[in-house]
Amino acid sequence: MSIEYSQLSIPKLGTKTVQNAEEEKAIDREWYNNPGQFPKPSAVVTILRGDVKPWSEEWKWFFGAVALVLGIIVAAKMKKKRKKKGVVDRCKLCGRRGELQRSHFLPAALYGMILRQGGAEGNPMVVTREITVQTSRQFWAHLLCGECEGRFNMNGEGYALARVHNADRFPLLDLLNVAMPLQATRELALYSGSDIGIDVDQLAYFAMSIFWRASVHRWTSASGGQIWNPLGNYEEPVRRYLLGETPFPNEMVLVITVCTDFESQSSVLSPAIVRGDRIDGMGLIARGIQFRLYTGPDIPEALRRVCCVRSERRIILVGDCRRISLQAFANLHANRQP
Ligand SMILES: [Zn+2]
Repeated sequence: MSIEYSQLSIPKLGTKTVQNAEEEKAIDREWYNNPGQFPKPSAVVTILRGDVKPWSEEWKWFFGAVALVLGIIVAAKMKKKRKKKGVVDRCKLCGRRGELQRSHFLPAALYGMILRQGGAEGNPMVVTREITVQTSRQFWAHLLCGECEGRFNMNGEGYALARVHNADRFPLLDLLNVAMPLQATRELALYSGSDIGIDVDQLAYFAMSIFWRASVHRWTSASGGQIWNPLGNYEEPVRRYLLGETPFPNEMVLVITVCTDFESQSSVLSPAIVRGDRIDGMGLIARGIQFRLYTGPDIPEALRRVCCVRSERRIILVGDCRRISLQAFANLHANRQP
């Protein structure tokens, strides 16, 4: 075989002069045979196969899209699972560790009623020391387990919310208006809740659950409001009462007044100090039902007699609550933090 080329440029080895056929063969093992049979560079292979792409090349967009969709589905499922799992911590009411619910400070249904009535124009939904909250559901926290949320709902919330002023009717006042009061003055009427068939225990439980919620957690909203009204030494007895372990706590009086004025019927007022002649209490208004809670060993007899829990006839008052509502609003505003 004649060697018609004597010099070959071999990049790796540099310039090499091929002396004979044997040497050429030796080089061939590693590099090439002869000028007509040079191994084809990969670029040439690609060009040759340009119109006959491998199947994986043809379907790469399809597989890419399937992978993307699967990725999105898996991510969504994991997020849902995380959300479902929620926060695991100790329930503030029962003390058991478990998944905590997203608890609202006040039942969301109360806000819904205000919205149905035509918005909150002029009628604050929730007044705190810092702000008047016009938007719904701002105050929430991981506070209670599912069982305790259910307990609140079963033992008072469901019953009370079906009897507050619901934008169309005021079922509790309707019931009282057709009943005979035990006593009545121009300003105030006293009714026996038990005689009329009102489940006063449910109303009391509802109010106590809100007073307790205001005590056990500092509720803050994104807009800077805060609700926190500590019950001090009474927090623990109230917790046990709400759990059903003990009766209504000692040294506590709860007074229910069903409001005849529009302002109280259309407002939700978070717990606030209510100044009294001899003793201060804590007030709360849920669309026409005003609750006042007094604590301590020195509660005047006049208030004890109208306690909805302790009075024999399960007293419920009916009257114009504007004075107390406005006073409570005023106190909240006066206590505003700088
Ligand atoms: Zn619990």
